[in-house]
Amino acid sequence: MKIIIHGGFFSESSQSDETKQKKQNALKEIIDKGFEFLQTHTALETVVYTTCLLEDCPLFNAGIGSQIQADGKIRMSAAIMNGSDCRFSGVINIENVQNPVLVAEKLLKEEDRVLSGQGAKQYANSQGFESFSTETEERKKEYNMKLKSSKTSTVGCVVLDRKGKLAVATSTGGKGFEIPGRVSDSATIAGNFANKHCAISCTGVGEDIINGALACKIVTRVTDGQTIESAFDKTFEELKEIDGFAGAIGIDVKGNMYWKESHPKIVFAAYDGEEMTLFD
Ligand code: ASP
Repeated sequence: MKIIIHGGFFSESSQSDETKQKKQNALKEIIDKGFEFLQTHTALETVVYTTCLLEDCPLFNAGIGSQIQADGKIRMSAAIMNGSDCRFSGVINIENVQNPVLVAEKLLKEEDRVLSGQGAKQYANSQGFESFSTETEERKKEYNMKLKSSKTSTVGCVVLDRKGKLAVATSTGGKGFEIPGRVSDSATIAGNFANKHCAISCTGVGEDIINGALACKIVTRVTDGQTIESAFDKTFEELKEIDGFAGAIGIDVKGNMYWKESHPKIVFAAYDGEEMTLFD
């Protein structure tokens, strides 16, 4: 059993040592809980559970603590994908729910599995999700100071369970100050993709991740026989050619965990029950 999570990027120039320590502690705590949950749950259940914990942590830009868009509203996106049956579901630009990933989970059983905007919110309401503001004082302060986000910190989780099944979830508040209507990569197959061979979650500049078809490309390369390491390397080489800014985490069906970033440094933790690797 393996689990790897990310909390976006850490920028040395705009974030303090104290923030770094807080993020490291939060990731440690969350990955421990996720791994414990995995003992008795499937990969799919575990990515949803763990991503909820990440969404509930205001340090990260997903769920509570999401960035505010140009018109002062928060719109969030989240997706999950079950590797064993290749089912993807997600919400794009949903407002006023505490855990977008839980709405994505509900959608997995529907025929229409990716919903956006008002439709996504109406669906959430019909499923009993209560209205909840995910705005924090910190984000409001940044917004009022018109700070463009240099602190992208989308969250993601990839899991391999005891039965060898893979799943992935990714959740984001977007990049901050975006034009309302912008679609992040997180609820697309560029930012969040899995099959029975490999599962990948991305963070970084959504437009670059989409241009590079990142998650889907890495998974396809592993499916076609490349090692996860060479699949990451080749895909990030191609990303460099288009000057892309991104990071990704992943696990293959053999249990190899891997992560890579185009720029320092992706905030991540990886755990196999014995050894924990944490971003530094
Ligand atoms: N990928 C997200 C987006 O562009 C941002 C992030 O990863 O922090 O919306």
